[in-house]
Amino acid sequence: MLFTFQLKTPAQGLMNITPEVEEAIKESGVLEGICVIFCPHTTAAITINENADPDVKSDFIKGMDRFFPDLREFQHCEGNSDAHIKSSAVGASETVIIKGGRPLLGTWQDIYFCEFDGPRNRKFYVKVM
Ligand code: ZN
Repeated sequence: MLFTFQLKTPAQGLMNITPEVEEAIKESGVLEGICVIFCPHTTAAITINENADPDVKSDFIKGMDRFFPDLREFQHCEGNSDAHIKSSAVGASETVIIKGGRPLLGTWQDIYFCEFDGPRNRKFYVKVM
C-alpha cells in the first residue's frame, strides 16, 4: 500500500515523521515486511537519526551548512545549489524493516524529513510491503 503525507516545513530543519510511518504501517495491516519512505523533492531528503537530544537536529543543519556551503561560484539560476547538494548527500529515501507491525528502529532512532530550502509545502510517500 502507498501512503502520501503532506507537511509544512521551516527554512531548514529535521521533522520527525516516525508517527506518520507508524500510522501507515498500522493502516496497511502488514506485520512483517519492509517499508520505504521516499521524498519526491530535490532540495529535501529523508534520514534516520537520534531522537533523544534535540540539539542533534540543529547540529545536523549546522554541519550540513559547514560541509555544503552556498558558494559564490554556483551558477544554478534558482540560487539553491547548496540545498540540491545536501539533498543528494543525505538521500531521497530510507528503507525500514517492519517487525510485529512496527518499524524496527533502534532505541535512539527516529525517521526525519530534512528540509534544506524551505519554508515550503512538502510531501513524502510511505510504501508498505
Ligand atoms: Zn534549484
